[in-house]
Amino acid sequence: MSVFGTVSVKNGRYRIKGDFHHITPSTPIRNQDYPWGLVGVTNPRDMTYIHTYGGEAVFFENLCKGKIHGTRCDNPDCTFKGTVYLPFRIHCPDCLAKNTVIDLTDVCRKTAVIHTYMVCERSGAFNTLDRPIRFINVEFEGISTILMSYLSTGTPEIGMRVVPIFRTQDPTYTITDLSWVPTGTPQEALPKGFSFE
Ligand SMILES: [Zn+2]
Repeated sequence: MSVFGTVSVKNGRYRIKGDFHHITPSTPIRNQDYPWGLVGVTNPRDMTYIHTYGGEAVFFENLCKGKIHGTRCDNPDCTFKGTVYLPFRIHCPDCLAKNTVIDLTDVCRKTAVIHTYMVCERSGAFNTLDRPIRFINVEFEGISTILMSYLSTGTPEIGMRVVPIFRTQDPTYTITDLSWVPTGTPQEALPKGFSFE
């Protein structure tokens, strides 16, 4: 059994099981120079955060199935009806109506281009990506927004054609399950657990 708490939903309610807070004994902080003595204590604390995806859950659910879902405003009264969004936007920012969920996997496969990029040699706490991290902004034909993601192989260049890859093996159900590689990259070159579909 996991030492961390787990959550499921039944009858529209969260069911939480296990410990969501862990306390580890404090350790003294001591001055090693004169005047020797106690300066304070460390307070190790561990908590499990319950992060709800809400209306975006469909996007994360489908990533591990090799599908990229975005949304489109279909409100006939909207000035910008037909606008397509990726990253997934639950509501239209112009008319605030609920958007229609659409499958954009094919558009992503056929039209993704690196808009811009940055390479990060260092990262913050809890980073799980290999460094240097090649962050890329990806643009698509017919989609009004740009997606932030990361390139798994190759050297990013502005205008480079890329294709999506998916962590279908042991997915994390987070945005890192989606990555990109230059068009023409063979399956053998993909990181462990990733595939094209
Ligand atoms: Zn709208």
